[in-house]
Amino acid sequence: MHKVSLSLLVLTVIAQFSCNQKETERHPTRPNIVFIMSDDHAYQAISAYDNRLIETPNIDRIAKMGILFTNASVTNSICAPSRATILTGKHSHINGKVDNHFPFDTTNITFPQLLHEAGYQTAMFGKLHFGNNPKGFDQFKILPGQGTYYNPDFITKDEGTVRIEGYVTDIITDMTLNWLENDRKEDQPFLLMYLHKAPHREWLMAERHFEDFTTRTFPEPPTLFDDYSGRGRPAREAEMNLLTDMHWAGDSKIYPEVMQELGIKGTSDWDEGAFDREVGRMNPTQRAKWDAAYSVVNEEFKKAYPSMSKEDQMKWRYQRYMQDYLGTIQSVDENVGRVLDYLEENGLMENTIIVYTSDQGFYLGEHGWYDKRFVYNESFKTPLLMAWPGKTPQGVRSDALVQNLDFAQTFLEAADLVAPTDMQGQSLMPFLTGKGDEWQRDAVYYHYYEYPSIHMVKRHYAIITKDYKLVHYYFDTDEWELIDRQNDPYELKNVYKDPAYAEIRATLHKQLDSLREKYGDNSQISQRYIDEYLDFLEEQGSYAGAKDTTLLKKIFQDRRKN
Ligand code: CA
Repeated sequence: MHKVSLSLLVLTVIAQFSCNQKETERHPTRPNIVFIMSDDHAYQAISAYDNRLIETPNIDRIAKMGILFTNASVTNSICAPSRATILTGKHSHINGKVDNHFPFDTTNITFPQLLHEAGYQTAMFGKLHFGNNPKGFDQFKILPGQGTYYNPDFITKDEGTVRIEGYVTDIITDMTLNWLENDRKEDQPFLLMYLHKAPHREWLMAERHFEDFTTRTFPEPPTLFDDYSGRGRPAREAEMNLLTDMHWAGDSKIYPEVMQELGIKGTSDWDEGAFDREVGRMNPTQRAKWDAAYSVVNEEFKKAYPSMSKEDQMKWRYQRYMQDYLGTIQSVDENVGRVLDYLEENGLMENTIIVYTSDQGFYLGEHGWYDKRFVYNESFKTPLLMAWPGKTPQGVRSDALVQNLDFAQTFLEAADLVAPTDMQGQSLMPFLTGKGDEWQRDAVYYHYYEYPSIHMVKRHYAIITKDYKLVHYYFDTDEWELIDRQNDPYELKNVYKDPAYAEIRATLHKQLDSLREKYGDNSQISQRYIDEYLDFLEEQGSYAGAKDTTLLKKIFQDRRKN
């Protein structure tokens, strides 16, 4: 009995070995893939794009080795839907993950599953935010939901949920390096997804950066005091203004007792909850270091607040926001450096495709905002740096209209696999192999859904070319917006009704119609997602985090009447 199993085992091993050998012969150059993604990392906070706010020498190394995309974008600017588009190579209305509320439909086929089937070793560490575990991975350790910055819990493949003491960005990197060092198999190419939680709200930096970053000052963006007069209701009614919507405790780190002393009311009842959820997790040593830096912030604020005008408060909140947000980026950059060093020192650079991106961009005070969701540049665009050292020409900048929709087909082509015909992107391999000039796309499609919900950004879809954006806001409004990207780089003026743009408007409308047809989107599908979502909200008796509930009450009343 024993002998039989042993010989069976030997046969299996031999079969597997020869299979791997055949695979290697068939695809002699199948590269490894290291996919690095952070959460809400604005391109304005990467020095390869813009060095006014912070230096990120390690992330910039990828651009030096390869290509920096200045017009990379997402199809739907919000966490989980972006991740679903990346993994499936399909727009939100096709893969079903249109917002952060419903779990990802795991019957979708993802590119890691296909790579795994084709002989890739696969691992994922960090933030996924799907409401379920990833398929197609030999190994994963992921944060539950948003996860936490300090002493985070991880859902693991083999050991259930574990809590690890320390700072999340360092821990995710330790896991990644540990896997590369101890679990990576030399005879298989690998896909490694290294996914940071940082710099997601509420922006808690590592202890080592408290003192440095809480005392820095940063230049303000030109549109910090945008009054939204050049645009319609969507920009005016959004709830993501630094002055009026950001939380004093959870976001700006003002102690709840200081708020009380100064008579500041919480921006919402979430305020102190967010403070406790993050700062409350620290151990006594971490908390003591935190208090040493943030008690100074609080003391100074206590003195300054009584004489602050609204304008002063806005400026103060911007600085406070940037200190914490950029403090978290500092750790991301340091840790990306650790991984790049490892690849270099272990001879892995030559046959590895390295990607750095974010699940979308973010407002760093532009238009007076934080958060994302809108099709305006800071959240529609996302950082993208890619290199296949030895194959990719170095130091290239490209303004091609590439999207997160394109990753799946890129990696499948790199692995010499034929992508399923229903994937909707286009492989970026030409850029990696010096043939970027051959790549053609003149417009991309965008569709945002999560409304009514936290931050109250209305549902909209759009066509974006290098020169224009044509946007339709729908559901509880019906507004068109036309932005001239070349002449209005800050996107302050809707020229939809300007007669000078009549011709271009007509052309864009036609192009938008054909893009919607190409990607299979239409108003019936949009209505279906609205109905499902409102059913869900009514069932929950919830306004999904919106501050102004009068608008929502009206939506529900109107719905009952119809
Ligand atoms: Ca995100």
